[in-house]
Amino acid sequence: MNCYDYIIIGAGSAGCVLARRLSEDPATRVLLVEAGPPADDFWIRTPAGMGKLFKSERYNWCFQTEPVPTLRNRRIYWPRGKTLGGSSAVNGMVYVRGNRRDFDHWRDLGNPGWGWDDVLPYFRRSVRHAGDANPSEASHGLLTVSDPSVRHPAALAFLESAQRTGLARLHDFNEGHQEGAGLLQATIHNGVRQSTYDAFLAPVAGRRPNLEIRTGAHVRRVLFSGVAATGIEILLEGKIQRFEAAREVVLCAGALSSPHLLMLSGIGDAEQLRQHGIATVAHVPGVGKNLQDHFAVRVQAQTTPGGSYNQHLGGWRKYAEGARYLVTKGGYLALGSSIAAAFVRSGPDVEYADMEISFRPMTFSYAGSSEAVVDNFPAISASVYRVRPASRGEVALRSSDPMQSPAFIPNYLQHPDDVRAMLAGLRRLREIFAMKPLSSLIVQELLPGEQVRTDAQWIDYMEREGQCAFHPAGTCKMGNDAMAVVDARLRVRGVERLRVVDASIMPVVTSGNTNAPTIMIGEKGADMILADAALSRVA
Ligand SMILES: Cc1cc2nc3c(=O)[nH]c(=O)nc-3n(C[C@H](O)[C@H](O)[C@H](O)COP(=O)(O)OP(=O)(O)OC[C@H]3O[C@@H](n4cnc5c(N)ncnc54)[C@H](O)[C@@H]3O)c2cc1C
Repeated sequence: MNCYDYIIIGAGSAGCVLARRLSEDPATRVLLVEAGPPADDFWIRTPAGMGKLFKSERYNWCFQTEPVPTLRNRRIYWPRGKTLGGSSAVNGMVYVRGNRRDFDHWRDLGNPGWGWDDVLPYFRRSVRHAGDANPSEASHGLLTVSDPSVRHPAALAFLESAQRTGLARLHDFNEGHQEGAGLLQATIHNGVRQSTYDAFLAPVAGRRPNLEIRTGAHVRRVLFSGVAATGIEILLEGKIQRFEAAREVVLCAGALSSPHLLMLSGIGDAEQLRQHGIATVAHVPGVGKNLQDHFAVRVQAQTTPGGSYNQHLGGWRKYAEGARYLVTKGGYLALGSSIAAAFVRSGPDVEYADMEISFRPMTFSYAGSSEAVVDNFPAISASVYRVRPASRGEVALRSSDPMQSPAFIPNYLQHPDDVRAMLAGLRRLREIFAMKPLSSLIVQELLPGEQVRTDAQWIDYMEREGQCAFHPAGTCKMGNDAMAVVDARLRVRGVERLRVVDASIMPVVTSGNTNAPTIMIGEKGADMILADAALSRVA
């Protein structure tokens, strides 16, 4: 066996942060294992490369859900990053922390230390603001966050129209309250994607002898002696190998794979484990439950030529745009997936904004291709999703074979409140599209089309066309109730020396995109692990 102090499973948004922090002390030996390959690829570094990575079999797990009964039994495509940086290497780069009330709610659910005032220092510790993004916040962190490099007139028109429907104009979504419309910040530095690998690990990789990073290493299970985690079993270079952790094993495999690995290792619902012939190490029935994801529905409209940047990414102009990017690292290839957004309430009784409307002055489709193809006509697009959905899904074991993915059961729109809220959000979006100045750029609505007006027609459209917004969370939830999987220090219940530190520990998914809060979880998780280690040395 090869021996380390800490073994971190998964080099994603949280895993890279954790590896950086835990290996800061040269006396601490850290092993970070990642199933995917290294991330040295032009299209990972280039923000517009997101479209190329979306269905990449090399860098993406390319998961599919089970057929979803509420969506006419469609299977929904679930991309997840599979490389150094994990999903932060393939995502849309939007940087949104969430609402302060999300975290206060986490704290009030029985998780001391997770309120907004507690987590804000961890958000701040990570980031450095480029340009004038959030000048109110001193920032010297490792992860650069910037404003959009191009402020396309359609995005500015969207913001003005949103204001005219009564929304406030926000200059920063990341101060804890989000209701209003504004430009989105992105994890992009000088036109280059900032995955957590780039920001946190690349600067030290190869320079810290105490940090070992292994790619192409698929973890099959966590090993135990009694109820104490002692190491991992991985498939590496075609061979099954074992590595030992003297202090802790930390699962950072993400909200879809961390619960899967727990179950494969004997931690989960004992009856379900028994059905698959897995010996139970600890009966923790909440593993894989409480799955939450954002279900997104888009509206698209054809615009006048200046109302979109589609034409810059097609025909001969795309070569000019490519050259512009190579020379200046600016232009449309340097933008994240959405550049403006509005956070709104779905009704007067809702306590704080529960709908996110993300706006793009461009459109694309997959039309039989594995890559996004930009439409050859000028058009804009906006997606609506309920940021605190009421529906709950599940990640369920399908087999004891670690190479077979589990069953993903999202249960989108199962709760009637989600349907009601989506209807309100989509109507609000149409209201913004109908308001000047944005309305003067619009020639006609393409999707769903102006004929869709009644609730029944909208619901029909959602069921046929709705997709995921790539934010699964909550499957190893933190808490102190019977369905909690980890405690407030992220230790897995019923066992020792094992933690989960990634998006799966969120008891409730945050009001917004999930990369920033997952990075915060990595920062806070690292502090807790180091503090507990220091305590145990004193004891
Ligand atoms: C297409 C897409 C677009 C998105 N857009 C945005 C956005 O614009 N803004 C935003 O905030 N969020 C976005 N997200 C969501 C965000 O990126 C994720 O919430 C976040 O990255 C989750 O971090 P994580 O650490 O929990 O998991 P991940 O970053 O997914 O990391 C998990 C890592 O574990 C590895 N792993 C899994 N199983 C094993 C195993 N058995 N053995 C070894 N390694 C394993 C994986 O390969 C992966 O590298 C997007 C996600 C996707 C997929």
